[in-house]
Amino acid sequence: MSLIVQKYGGSSVADAESIKRVARRVVETKRQGNQVVVVVSAMGDTTDDLLDLAADITDHPQDREMDILLSSGERMSMALLAMAINQLGETAQSFTGSQAGMITDAIHGKARLIEVNPNRVHESLDSGHIGIVAGFQGMSRESKDITTMGRGGSDTTAVALAAAMNADVCEIYTDVDGVFTADPRVVSRARKIDVASSEDMLEMAANGSKVLHLRSVEYARRFGVKLHVRSSFSEKEGTWVIPDPEDKITIQEGEPLEQPIITGLAHATEARMTIAGIPDEPGRAAAIFNVVAEVGTNIDMIVQDVSDETKKTNISFTLPSDDGRKTLEALEAQKGAIGFEDLDFTPEVGKVSLVGGGMRHHPGVSAKFFSALRDAGINITLISTSEIRVSVITKIEDMERAVEALHTAFGLDSEEEATVYAGTGR
Ligand code: ASP
Ligand code: MG
Repeated sequence: MSLIVQKYGGSSVADAESIKRVARRVVETKRQGNQVVVVVSAMGDTTDDLLDLAADITDHPQDREMDILLSSGERMSMALLAMAINQLGETAQSFTGSQAGMITDAIHGKARLIEVNPNRVHESLDSGHIGIVAGFQGMSRESKDITTMGRGGSDTTAVALAAAMNADVCEIYTDVDGVFTADPRVVSRARKIDVASSEDMLEMAANGSKVLHLRSVEYARRFGVKLHVRSSFSEKEGTWVIPDPEDKITIQEGEPLEQPIITGLAHATEARMTIAGIPDEPGRAAAIFNVVAEVGTNIDMIVQDVSDETKKTNISFTLPSDDGRKTLEALEAQKGAIGFEDLDFTPEVGKVSLVGGGMRHHPGVSAKFFSALRDAGINITLISTSEIRVSVITKIEDMERAVEALHTAFGLDSEEEATVYAGTGR
């Protein structure tokens, strides 16, 4: 008997009809002779609605109360799904994160898992039930409080349960047919990826692909969990994300054994800071990034110019748009100590990344990449690369066009249009 963990996102359980549809799918999986554990997100935009409600009450909600509030969204969907399954003649039991043994640290809003002890879920399965677990939440043993794991955290709940329960596969159900070579909301000819390595998927998620939560991909890779990302609206095979590239699970006869050169394109909106007129001498970059670190800003790309005869240089970096103000203020306050002349801040720039483990062994990827952007008349302001990724910063208004141009240039366009079944992609 196989143990399957299924996770359904908010758009798959948005209303009563959808919950019944999911229930049919879960029951079918059970009746095929599997044990099934289901992780659910909050219905539709419930989490956003709860955030808006709290904002109508106060500008300074207590972190502890905020987590109790947000964790209630997933409790609604888990109980309703259990009822819908019971209605179909199977039995289901729902569990909150803490009941399911999701033990986290005490950091509200972005708690990290410390331990996963799903004893009650095991017992439930052993008694013949379907186990349902609320996503994105846990409990701190230290503070004894309910915690949440950050937006999109239900994917991580599912992967962590799959790892702890030694599941055969973790199926992530969403509103598109899998992971695409680009966001199908931007590139209508995006193509579904059949198999990807965890390594490529990590780069895709880290650089803006929203289908899988970054932490869940990291977790799956670390614990060797096989992921199958697929649509809850169709029966189609989705995208397999495999932790071990030796594990060629869906390679059919005649298919190439090596992974393709390019897996896909990811894009994201970031902010850019340029610090101009910095004396070109040891210690200045350290001074800048210490200030940035002190205010808790996570930076992404960094570029320093070669200094000219004035012995001054410029440093640019990208950062999350939301962290712009505090970073700007902190740097401004240290202007004298750091010794720079000017600060230039652009609140929104586009980051476009091409990802593919195969590019490691293929020269010419960068040449093709930059030629495609030149032909589209798109100007680049920053470049960064890793072994399996090339990223550029463009003007925000050029970002989507850059994704489309690159998608075509790398031969990723599919014959048919990608289907987006539901949701807003947020
Ligand atoms: N409901 C939470 C959110 O909207 C967690 C999740 O859906 O994964 O972020
Ligand atoms: Mg999600």
